[in-house]
Amino acid sequence: QIFMPLNFLGFVYREIRGSLANIDKLFDLLAQTPAISDDENAIELKCANPALRFNDVHFAYTENRPILKGLSFDVPPGAKVAVVGESGAGKSTLMKLLFRFYETNKGKITIDGKDITSLTQQSLRGHIGIVPQDTVLFNTTLLENIRYGNPDATDDDINSVLKLAHLQAFVESLPEKLDTTVGERGLKLSGGEKQRVAIARALLKGAPIMIFDEATSSLDSTSEQAILSALCDAAKGHTSLVIAHRLSTIVDADKILVLKNGTIVEEGTHTSLLERQGEYATLWQTQQRDSEDKVNERTT
Ligand code: ATP
Repeated sequence: QIFMPLNFLGFVYREIRGSLANIDKLFDLLAQTPAISDDENAIELKCANPALRFNDVHFAYTENRPILKGLSFDVPPGAKVAVVGESGAGKSTLMKLLFRFYETNKGKITIDGKDITSLTQQSLRGHIGIVPQDTVLFNTTLLENIRYGNPDATDDDINSVLKLAHLQAFVESLPEKLDTTVGERGLKLSGGEKQRVAIARALLKGAPIMIFDEATSSLDSTSEQAILSALCDAAKGHTSLVIAHRLSTIVDADKILVLKNGTIVEEGTHTSLLERQGEYATLWQTQQRDSEDKVNERTT
């Protein structure tokens, strides 16, 4: 009679001790001073259709290893600009600088003509919707995972982003629809579905700037086509920056920047860059050959 209650008490004690250790870690984290803080006179960014500008931006994570060496480009209001380049060229770094996770070493980044260092970080980040390479999905329902982008969103808002992210048919095919749980880190979803959930979540935030940091994982052609349509619809009405790995997703971009060794070595539209027969054309031909090889492998 006494064994079971004592065993249970032991279990409760171990649970409480584990939770206290986690709470300690949480307080340690909260006590840390952020590396970047708002300027005393920081202003609130308020802009519905902003332009972005990188002006002679230099950046290094560590001394003597420059990643960006004087980068300058514009994203006009409502335009879609894509950045391509080999792995490690610094594409995701651009996005982190725009979000002000790090400060530039030289040069400046402006939104709507305002230096991002003069803005409150909250208003800066409130203006940017981001679709990261590795989306963090919580082990809860699809609805909760999407609503994370804006907890106050209405059902109409949710339906509208499901449509833009090309998720409607997928959700309809699930017995529990939006109440389906996605599993630990979204394990029950395919790579392409996860990315479209990330697009829906980012769109729900309603920010005027959208950044898509495309995942590197290879997708089958149906998933790729679904992402392509989702990216295309999601970018409409936003000032967008697309960090692209699959060039097929950015053929419609207003401008493509080719990043190499920390600088922009080529820029133009997909057609003009192909005509130029330079770095972009080589990247394009390599990717076309790779996807043809994959199709051949599947059919033989
Ligand atoms: P990929 O196409 O593989 O995603 P990328 O072009 O996005 O690559 P970045 O992630 O911007 O490349 O990284 C640029 C360089 O900076 C890489 O050499 C990387 O190792 C380095 N780097 C990235 N993050 C850090 C960091 N936190 N500390 C130090 N170096 C870093």
